[in-house]
Amino acid sequence: MQLNFPHLPEVTSVFSQFALHERLLKAVAELNFVEPTPVQAAAIPLALQGRDLRVTAQTGSGKTAAFVLPLLNRLVDLRERRVEIRALILLPTRELAQQTLKQVQLFSQFTYIKSGLVTGGEDFKEQAAMLRKVPDVLIGTPGRLLEQLNAGNLDLSHVQVLILDEADRMLDMGFAEDMERLCKECENRQQTLLFSATTGGAALRDMIGKVLKDPEHLMLNSVSQLAEGTRQQIITADHDKQKEQIVQWLLANETFDKAIIFTKTRHLADRNYGHLVAKDVKAFVLHGEKDQKDRKLALERFKQGSSKVLVASDVASRGMDIDGLDLVINFDMPRSGD
Ligand code: AMP
Repeated sequence: MQLNFPHLPEVTSVFSQFALHERLLKAVAELNFVEPTPVQAAAIPLALQGRDLRVTAQTGSGKTAAFVLPLLNRLVDLRERRVEIRALILLPTRELAQQTLKQVQLFSQFTYIKSGLVTGGEDFKEQAAMLRKVPDVLIGTPGRLLEQLNAGNLDLSHVQVLILDEADRMLDMGFAEDMERLCKECENRQQTLLFSATTGGAALRDMIGKVLKDPEHLMLNSVSQLAEGTRQQIITADHDKQKEQIVQWLLANETFDKAIIFTKTRHLADRNYGHLVAKDVKAFVLHGEKDQKDRKLALERFKQGSSKVLVASDVASRGMDIDGLDLVINFDMPRSGD
């Protein structure tokens, strides 16, 4: 694969060549990760050196391991555990936060490092109780983290590493102020890594200027690279009603195992879902207004294959990692080419 990153080593074949602790390498082997992905090959050595990084890479590129492994490596030899929060990972959505927690737990399974999750849609008091036990690594979404902070339940002053994942999307979702506040709370941090799927606009540049120190920029994707092996088609339509008919035609005539229909709004997601159900198509709908339990259930069922179609507002569903997804319909123009 042709990469945009000029310093990428030509052959980075195995994880053991990274200066990672043996307990982490054991977890990597347990997970059957053999070859690092390009983003891992580029980011892990620099992150291990303690550099601030700005990484442009998509979900599916292996970016989670690219920041989780160096982060855990920093904490693996800590003598005192669960005294202070040492690392904070900020993400835009609950689903992404849950997925990331899972990866952190898998990579830290042979260490004493404990992680915790703070997102909306979960019990506030239970979270506060979890925070009293002080996880080494905290993963969460900005809104609820701020609420816990304002309630006096969260001390971020000992955070050594701060990760902003899907930073462009967090900004799109209006989290700029919350992100800044949380970054300020991590004032004693030694390293910040910022990941975004797109190169972003002025808001992202502004955030980068505020939170990163002399960062290296790793560009790991481009539109053309992502399009390899994917057949892309633009279908023009005059209005939403016609689009809905086209969606139904596509679902009836394309061959696929799993399809996602992205819409720009919750309302359109619900409408499309209604039309599909009326046509006896087994589908689920996912958006921010859904109860957290329903969202989890919809995603699980879709992943397991008990429904073939998921209708989702793009905010609710970005960054999901779903095997076997082979048809994506953007009901509205996607926000960016990436
Ligand atoms: P991510 O982009 O971090 O969401 O990762 C996408 C998927 O790729 C996840 O299911 C990871 O478990 C998997 N993955 C990441 N890195 C590797 C690797 N080096 N080898 C095999 N699988 C990987």
